Amino acid sequence: MDILLPTSTAGSLPKPSWLAEPEKIWSPWALDGDALIEAKRDALRLTLQEQAHAGIDIVSDGEQTRQHFVTTFIEHLDGVDFTQRETVKIRDRYEASVPSVVGSVSRPKPVFVDDAAFLRAQTEQPIKWALPGPMTMIDTLYDGHYKSREKLAWEFAQILNQEARDLEAAGVDIIQFDEPAFNVFFDDVNDWGMATLERAIEGLKCETAIHICYGYGIKANNDWKKTLGSEWRQYEAVFPKLQQSNVDIISLESKNSHVPMELIELIRGKKVMLGAIDVATNEVETAEAVADTLRRALQFVDADKLYPSTNCGMAPLSRQVARGKLAALSAGADMVRQELTA
Ligand SMILES: [Zn+2]
Repeated sequence: MDILLPTSTAGSLPKPSWLAEPEKIWSPWALDGDALIEAKRDALRLTLQEQAHAGIDIVSDGEQTRQHFVTTFIEHLDGVDFTQRETVKIRDRYEASVPSVVGSVSRPKPVFVDDAAFLRAQTEQPIKWALPGPMTMIDTLYDGHYKSREKLAWEFAQILNQEARDLEAAGVDIIQFDEPAFNVFFDDVNDWGMATLERAIEGLKCETAIHICYGYGIKANNDWKKTLGSEWRQYEAVFPKLQQSNVDIISLESKNSHVPMELIELIRGKKVMLGAIDVATNEVETAEAVADTLRRALQFVDADKLYPSTNCGMAPLSRQVARGKLAALSAGADMVRQELTA
């Protein structure tokens, strides 16, 4: 990246109310058929314009064409039956009705590649595309076929690698894998989770990122966070493995979370996409608050490796709040950029 402190968002951005019910995850579409296809692309153009207007450097589709960051990808795979639903505990935290793996999983055709090519055609800015990570995918399903989390994760890793190679060919600059499950199942991460992620990024020449967070600002997550005590040291369990991995960028929470900033010392050498915006509050950060978070991070990460971002996706927020937060992120990064180059 030729700019210092390039800004980006972790993932989803709010959808317009004419596309889907606002301020909600898994929000149902307001249209169908060709009208829905056209509306998704219009929303993608709009979210891109809003990011550009706010001064965001690495832009994304804001996940306007998908209902959910995990399930929409899975919907396009063979071997998963969405009519056979089972209730499972997601992230060991909240119960959800999820589809079932009923046979060998495979990707009959590319999933997001047309959307990524469409985004590529709309902007000259660097673009980032998010995919779910293998461990987070298996944690959002009931598996009645492989009956092994590890085995299924390896299958998904191979499918994700196919998709990632196609996204790279479509001109995506950074492919991000969302792995909130890395923040919960530490033993599995170290046993096979990291290895399956390495399989997913194998052979890629574009940059790769992993996003590990404490989740959307929804009630189940907020309640869980209250049980984590005053210091959140979950990252400590997986950072040493990540530091040695081939992943280029680590995307993390920081603003208002109780993660001790010094933990990022454990991933020294990696680019750090740091959450300087809290997605669990409607309060819009000031530029000074963003700058303060970035300055504290700079004690542990080299300036050319710090990428200011949001803690997580902003889909559950109002468009107005999200716009304010994007502008604050940009303004805060700019303050620190000026200090660094003064
Ligand atoms: Zn997240």
